[in-house]
Amino acid sequence: MTLRHDVVIVGSGLAGLRAALEVAGDADVALVSKVFPTRSHSGAAQGGIGAALGNEEPDSWEWHMYDTVKGGDYLTDQDAAEVLAKDAPRAVYELEHLGVPFNRTSDGRIAQRAFGGHTKNFGEAAIKRACHAADRTGRVILDTLFGEAVKRGIKVYSEYQLMDLVFTDGAASGVVLYEAANGRVHTVGARAVMLATGGFGKVFKTTSNCFANTGDGVYYCYRAGIPLQDMEFVQFHPTGIYELGVLISEAARGEGGILRNRDGRRFMEDYAPTIKDLAPRDMVSRAIVTEIRNGRGIDGRDFVHLDLTHIGRERLAEKLSDISSFVRDYLGIDAATDLIPVSPTCHYMMGGIPTDLDGRVLGAAMDPIPGLYAAGECACVSVHGANRLGCNSLVDLVVFGRRTGKQIRQDLDALQRLEMEGEPAERTVETIHRIKNRGRGERASTLRYELQRVMTEECSVYRTESGLDDALGRLEGLRARYESVTVDSQGTSYNMDLLEAIELESLLGLGETILLSARNRVESRGAHSREDYPERDDENWLKHTLIRKTEKGSEIFYKPVAITRFEPKARTY
Ligand SMILES: Cc1cc2nc3c(=O)[nH]c(=O)nc-3n(C[C@H](O)[C@H](O)[C@H](O)COP(=O)(O)OP(=O)(O)OC[C@H]3O[C@@H](n4cnc5c(N)ncnc54)[C@H](O)[C@@H]3O)c2cc1C
Repeated sequence: MTLRHDVVIVGSGLAGLRAALEVAGDADVALVSKVFPTRSHSGAAQGGIGAALGNEEPDSWEWHMYDTVKGGDYLTDQDAAEVLAKDAPRAVYELEHLGVPFNRTSDGRIAQRAFGGHTKNFGEAAIKRACHAADRTGRVILDTLFGEAVKRGIKVYSEYQLMDLVFTDGAASGVVLYEAANGRVHTVGARAVMLATGGFGKVFKTTSNCFANTGDGVYYCYRAGIPLQDMEFVQFHPTGIYELGVLISEAARGEGGILRNRDGRRFMEDYAPTIKDLAPRDMVSRAIVTEIRNGRGIDGRDFVHLDLTHIGRERLAEKLSDISSFVRDYLGIDAATDLIPVSPTCHYMMGGIPTDLDGRVLGAAMDPIPGLYAAGECACVSVHGANRLGCNSLVDLVVFGRRTGKQIRQDLDALQRLEMEGEPAERTVETIHRIKNRGRGERASTLRYELQRVMTEECSVYRTESGLDDALGRLEGLRARYESVTVDSQGTSYNMDLLEAIELESLLGLGETILLSARNRVESRGAHSREDYPERDDENWLKHTLIRKTEKGSEIFYKPVAITRFEPKARTY
């Protein structure tokens, strides 16, 4: 059945919701989400949203911009960082006025706390910049924006899964969706399509990401020949609960938490003497792995301790109540008296679909693709460069989500409704039929686990050429085996087996782009740390990677970094 809307936004996390609110009223906009909208990963964000409000101590957007550029190891496009840092205070006050219940200072202003890599006076000392609602900041913002979307009557396709993007003469003309409740396939025509499908941490075994984060929107762009940018830059958050990967927010260190090795030593003093435990995530993750490799993990094992015991029960309850309950529920320990075992967990994708500052998706010639937009974690504006700072994603979502919505509204008059040629849903229908009717074959869960293992073993915090080559070989084998993937259930209602098998194609495709981009970049920068090339090499590698699928295989090319204010310098903290 063919449906029609002016604008289809796939993804109802904060990026998609914020854009939808900007377009609604002027155009018929539909939001699509494979999970119920408020279950989007944005709702899991804990620690805060960054903005130089200066409520706790003097702050300036220039300092915020500088930290974002330096945190990104100078791969950050500085025009994007300027937009982010300048617009952040307005964006936070807008959320406040919509009703987001931020924590307050004693005189009633929005409270702020310290976060990794955020400093005063261009790196002098840590600064309190993260606005927060205890440790459930994303939850309250998501609920507020979703409430607003409901109020405005925005059409929501909840539990509809994007299966394909439709193009007519190189312009986006619609999407193909699968309705989880009954297995129906729908084609939806649109004058503008926006992707806000979030990250894809599920490529890795240990991750803080939710199950929906399989990167379908990003992969479908790649499959359609659109390049992907900076895919080698994968963020590992230093403090995942050991073995589970469940996140212990950086807010824990923002509130004074300390990382300790087997000797009880605060080892970050050795790696980042100025801001210690509040160094950017790439540095803290490398420090933890280095401690572990040198036998200083707890009992010589592969984790360290996060110590919150000196913070006090009352403050933990006020500021870090969710993570206190996580460690109680998952580990049976009390954060007020016990040390928490932590190790790095895959957390955030700096790379993704290349866009300009207004969310227009860029094609192979780096020119906008008519009718196609993206924002949020699936996109790469590149405001985070080689390493995102904590509390800079939530602000990215509302700043660039809004800008993208504005751009769509502005473009809409000029965007015609294009005829969708042939049978746009054909590929989807055939894929589903093939997977269901194979009779015998491999289960998606087996292949997914092997993919996650390969990626985790060879492409985590540290990488080497031989490891990446080995991983690419193993991945090729998995891709071949994927051709025989099948499911036990023939059901049409919530056939999650089938949907997981389909998502696995995205995970395998994105895994390959990460490995190829990582093997290609023979330097260490931000979250991409090559043991065989330990130095940053600005002369040859101060440039963005783009990877594109062609008939002859994957092709890598480059794009310059926008440098406006801050010349690259050595990165010490
Ligand atoms: C545990 C955790 C804590 C975090 N804490 C913070 C923090 O304190 N501060 C901060 O700044 N950042 C934080 N982050 C990062 C930040 O939350 C994410 O980067 C951000 O929420 C991503 O938002 P988004 O709008 O791009 O996508 P998401 O919120 O991830 O939403 C993606 C949407 O796309 C939909 N979707 C995906 N694929 C399909 C498909 N095939 N069909 C239909 N719909 C689809 C999903 O259903 C969902 O609605 C945290 C991340 C995690 C995992």
